[in-house]
Amino acid sequence: MSETNLTQDTLNLGHAVQSELERVIQGQPAAIQSLLVALTAGGHVLIEGVPGVAKTLLARSLAAALRCSFARIQFTPDLMPSDITGVNVFNAATGTFAFRPGPLFADIVLAERPDAVIVATGSMPDRAAIPGADGPEVVDVTDILSGATMPFKRVMIIDRLGFHEATSAAEYLAEQGCEVEVVTQTLFVGQDLGITLDLENWYRQARRLGITCTPNHSVLSIDHGVVTALHNYSGQIIKFPKVDTVVLAIHRKADHALYDALKAWVPDLHRIGDCVAPRRAHAAIIEGERAGRAV
Ligand SMILES: Cc1cc2nc3c(=O)[nH]c(=O)nc-3n(C[C@H](O)[C@H](O)[C@H](O)COP(=O)(O)OP(=O)(O)OC[C@H]3O[C@@H](n4cnc5c(N)ncnc54)[C@H](O)[C@@H]3O)c2cc1C
Repeated sequence: MSETNLTQDTLNLGHAVQSELERVIQGQPAAIQSLLVALTAGGHVLIEGVPGVAKTLLARSLAAALRCSFARIQFTPDLMPSDITGVNVFNAATGTFAFRPGPLFADIVLAERPDAVIVATGSMPDRAAIPGADGPEVVDVTDILSGATMPFKRVMIIDRLGFHEATSAAEYLAEQGCEVEVVTQTLFVGQDLGITLDLENWYRQARRLGITCTPNHSVLSIDHGVVTALHNYSGQIIKFPKVDTVVLAIHRKADHALYDALKAWVPDLHRIGDCVAPRRAHAAIIEGERAGRAV
C-alpha cells in the first residue's frame, strides 16, 4: 500500500503502535510489520511458531496498544459453539434470559493452536459472468433474502437459475413497495418452480403484487442500472429502462480464498461444502460430518 494513500494521522497511529510493540516484544520486526499490515487491510493472521516465542504476547500487546478488547479461544477437542459465541443465562430474580457474550465479541480474538482447520467459507455469485455485474448498484439475491440490504424504487432481478431464488426475492421486494421486474433467458420466469408445486401460487402472488415477468431475454451487460439483453428468438438487442438496483440470481463460484491462504500453513486442513463447489445444503452437511469425524 502506498503511504500517500494514508492520512498522516493513520501513519502516526501505525508508527506509535509499532514502537509500542517493539518495546514489548524483543525482535520479530517482520512479524510485527506483517501483523500491522494485515490489521490495516482487515485480514486475519495465522502466527506459527514453537512454544515460548511470544505469539500470544504479540496479539495481546497489539490489543493493548490499540486500546482494544482482547480474548483468546483455546481450540480444545471439547470446545462447544457457545464457548465461542456466548450463552443466554437465566436470571431467576427477573425471570428473564440475559446474553453473556463469548470471546468472539472481543475486538481482537486469538484462536490458539487448532490441531486441524475445516474451511467452510461457502460461495459467491460469479459476477464475472455478466460485464458490469460488479457495479455499486448490483447486489446478490442472498443480500436481499438475508436482509443485508434493502433496495428501493425500481428493481430488476436477473434470473439465470429458474428456481426459488429470484421469485422469492421478487415477491419480498414487491411486498416492501419496490417496482420489480424479473428478466430471464428461460421460457418463463420460475421455470423450475413446478418441481416444488409452487409455480401457480407464485404467479398468483406476482399478479397481485404487479411483478413484471420478462422471459426469453439473455442479459448481456449492466451499466449503471441499465440492463442490456438479447431477445433469444429475434436477436434484437434491448436496453431496459434504468433501474435503481439490479439483483443477481446467477450461478455461484466457490469462495476458497481462505483455504488457499491456509494451505501452506495448516497440515491438517479440510475444505467442505460450497467452498469446494456450490451445491445443495445436504452436501455441506455430509462433508461437515465426514471432516468432523476425520479430525
Ligand atoms: C439464494 C440461495 C438459496 C438456496 N436454497 C437452497 C435450498 O432451498 N436447499 C438447499 O439444499 N440448498 C440451497 N442453497 C444452497 C445452500 O445454501 C448451500 O449449499 C449451503 O448453504 C452451503 O453451506 P456452506 O456451509 O458450505 O456455506 P454457507 O452456508 O454459504 O456458509 C459460509 C459462511 O462462511 C462465512 N465466511 C466466508 N468467508 C469467511 C471468512 N474468511 N471468515 C469467516 N467466515 C467466512 C460466510 O459469511 C458464510 O456465513 C441455496 C443457496 C442460495 C445462494
